[in-house]
Amino acid sequence: MKSAEIKRRFLAYFEANGHTVVPSLPLPFDDPNLLFVVAGMAQFVPYFTGQQTPPFKRATSVQKCIRTPDIDEVGKTTRHATFFQMNGNFSFGDYFKEGAIRFAWELSTTSQAQGGFGLDGERIWPTVYLDDDEAVDIWHRVIGIPHERIVRRGKEDNTWDMGIPGPAGPCSELFYDRGPEYGPEGGPAVDEDRFTEYWNLVFMQYERGKSTGPHKGDYEIVEDLPNKNIDTGMGLERIATILQGVDNLYEIDETKPVLDRAAELTGRTYGAKSGHAASQSHPDDVRLRVIADHVRSGLMLISDGVVPSNEGRGYVLRRILRRAIRAMRLLGYEDPALPELLPVARDCMAPSYPEVVTDFGRISTYAYAEEEAFRHTLRAGTAIFDMQAMEVRRAGGSQLSGEKAFQLHDTYGFPIELTLEMAADQGLTVDEGGFRRLMREQQRRAKADAQAKKTGFVDTSVWRAVLEQGGSEFTGYQEVARESKVTALVGQDGVLEAAGQGDEVELVLDVTPFYAEGGGQQPDFGRITINAAGHDAELEVVDVQTPVPGVIAHKIKVLRGEVRPGDPAFALVDVGRRASVSRSHSATHLLHAALRRTLGEQAAQAGSLNAPGRLRFDFHNPSAVAPSVLADVEDEINEVLLHDLEVRAFITNPEEARRLGAIAIFGEKYGERVRIVEIGDYSRELCGGTHVARSSVIGMVKLLSEASIGSGVRRVEALVGLDAFRYLAREHVLVQQLAGDLKTPADQLPERIAATLDRLRTAEKELERLRAAAVLASAGTLAESAEMLGATRVVTAEAPSGVGAGELRSLALDVRGRLPQSEAAVVVLAAPGEKGVSFVAAVNEAGQSAGLSANDVVRAFAPVLGARGGGKADLAQGAGGDAAKLAEAFAGVRRYVAERGTG
Ligand code: ATP
Ligand code: MG
Repeated sequence: MKSAEIKRRFLAYFEANGHTVVPSLPLPFDDPNLLFVVAGMAQFVPYFTGQQTPPFKRATSVQKCIRTPDIDEVGKTTRHATFFQMNGNFSFGDYFKEGAIRFAWELSTTSQAQGGFGLDGERIWPTVYLDDDEAVDIWHRVIGIPHERIVRRGKEDNTWDMGIPGPAGPCSELFYDRGPEYGPEGGPAVDEDRFTEYWNLVFMQYERGKSTGPHKGDYEIVEDLPNKNIDTGMGLERIATILQGVDNLYEIDETKPVLDRAAELTGRTYGAKSGHAASQSHPDDVRLRVIADHVRSGLMLISDGVVPSNEGRGYVLRRILRRAIRAMRLLGYEDPALPELLPVARDCMAPSYPEVVTDFGRISTYAYAEEEAFRHTLRAGTAIFDMQAMEVRRAGGSQLSGEKAFQLHDTYGFPIELTLEMAADQGLTVDEGGFRRLMREQQRRAKADAQAKKTGFVDTSVWRAVLEQGGSEFTGYQEVARESKVTALVGQDGVLEAAGQGDEVELVLDVTPFYAEGGGQQPDFGRITINAAGHDAELEVVDVQTPVPGVIAHKIKVLRGEVRPGDPAFALVDVGRRASVSRSHSATHLLHAALRRTLGEQAAQAGSLNAPGRLRFDFHNPSAVAPSVLADVEDEINEVLLHDLEVRAFITNPEEARRLGAIAIFGEKYGERVRIVEIGDYSRELCGGTHVARSSVIGMVKLLSEASIGSGVRRVEALVGLDAFRYLAREHVLVQQLAGDLKTPADQLPERIAATLDRLRTAEKELERLRAAAVLASAGTLAESAEMLGATRVVTAEAPSGVGAGELRSLALDVRGRLPQSEAAVVVLAAPGEKGVSFVAAVNEAGQSAGLSANDVVRAFAPVLGARGGGKADLAQGAGGDAAKLAEAFAGVRRYVAERGTG
């Protein structure tokens, strides 16, 4: 059964059983602790924790997931992918253990002819938590599984929680026995490759408290949940492995063609040297599996808007792509590999994800550019490595230090595994411990930096505690001033009891009109006034951030007085700044829409900044946008402003948003409710920002520049409103000034300036020609000025300032030519210039025969000036030094001639 069919059947089965089909979240996830979605339940967390009321009691989905901790397992076990899909069914206070177990069992074992997966029930082994007798009872009594096949396991395996206080519970997992060729008898406790976990059923039945120890399950149970929930996850790739009768999940229909192509390119016969079980895998086959897995993960990540970079999600993507490329090289394939492999992965995923086809231009641009960059790195890094290896050997050592390995990693992007392998090739070892220590130090620094940037100072647990007390409500869409209450003050070291004059701290209000920086929009600034019984205060708001979703933190300076948690407050947004930022944000939407209309759908947003009076917009486009096209875009935007379109914001569900064609920005997470901002019929986007009420309020948009900021990403900067007007007004004054000075109407300035420049260039050339002619014309006079020193004729002269070295040389040779050939002659000419003196010495053949050398002349001459120079016996030259010393230097020449010429 093909993967696409498995997904279809799964959703159809649960839909027929009263579940609402919900689309997958994009892979990137906006949780500070997670980079990517790791399970199907991610989008339902607010329902499980009770923060939101679910709009349905039952849901089902096929969720795209990435688990970075599993990267190192890929290819070595039979069952771990980096990218995989989790089929899930969810119950919110509706059916519980028995319902979940019955559904899982029925779908697993119903024959394929009747729409199920047709697994042999005798080969399914359920596991349950140690004391979950209820689950044991259901498996045994209701389903009819003998006790020998129901395995009780501990907290590590069979409990579930989110690592923080909240819903938790035991789980029950379904394992399938793939048969003796995959490993020994004995059930999941003995061999998890033969007995493969394919479905996990989580029973959320109680509320857990704070952690009491370092291990999973170390917490107290606070209470039983009034509403019990179900969360299940069936690994699509795992069930496909079973149903397609292949040895591991890299061999299913969605990845095997990539693996085959890689084998073909590298000339391997996949599987020839491996057995069925994971433990019998040949390293070459493991590499081919890594390639197949990673190429697919790369495709799906870029498709969801992640781009290669050196941090966060982008780094995971970079690492995955580079591992695939490196595995190809280790198998002996040195040409660019992704252009051969990525299209195969695309064709595999197209049936379930049509966007990988429509977006392939953008996806492949990033992927191929990354491979190019990595190839470059490899070339540079290999040279450095070879040098380091040589040094180690020369010093009689056999180990590359941790610092060197770290430098290769940090500066040249060398993965440590690569360094290890290259060292082994040369018979060297690497101080891996030292390397890891340096890596940890760097990570610690980076983490501290990131935290300091995002939340002021404190770690997120403080903010989570603030959230647990109720968080903050944002009312800034409707109002810019309101009464509220201080709920928390947070400083360097955590929660504060009070803040006084001069202090800079973070302040949380229960309700606030202040917009926190987000979606590219800059934060509101403003004032907060405190008027409590016994004390009051005046606070200036200088930044607003969202340290964790649900909490709005105002960075404030206490201008006067004292503030404490619990104080009544009056919050007042700086409306001028807000209005200006809102104009920029609305203008950004118009720019986005206009660019897409003009350049095509691929011109999707990659980032933006909406600041007072100006905006920055990054978008995907493979090449530069022509100035004429940009001018059209600008024209169109300004025309749309004048149409005075109404700007409307409303809340809806993701399906409706999609139906309306709202532009969804990749990488954002959409809950059940999304906010749409539309500007007339021209632009429609999912957006949480603030906007103008009508398009005409924006006033004016002036695009300033367009440039590349990375492979396939362009950046446009623009001014908005009064700033755009002032910019144009300034330019106008400038043009008027030029027109006045050049006495030309403004519209003829370009021709006039071009013509003037042209004339100037011609005149300059003419001047140069005349000067050279004049200099050369002086040759006769100079030759006549020669003085006799013994038997040698010597010409020493200063040429006009600014004569170039070339002219000086021509002149010296000319003078030398005019002197009698039968007599020794030395010519030294010097011309002062901006960068010191330039000078030339020439000696004729008779002079050379008499033992004189132009090189020696320059050596006698240059040091006196403080210059350098040299050359041959017939001609030498140099530059530099001080022109005031010329007379002295010429005297040196004469001395030299007098000594040599007569000697
Ligand atoms: P394992 O112990 O095999 O790593 P897990 O306990 O981490 O599995 P869960 O967190 O229970 O898995 O996830 C639910 C389901 O998702 C699993 O039953 C499995 O089918 C699938 N799954 C989990 N991790 C992966 C992965 N790396 N690749 C493919 N499927 C996976
Ligand atoms: Mg796991």
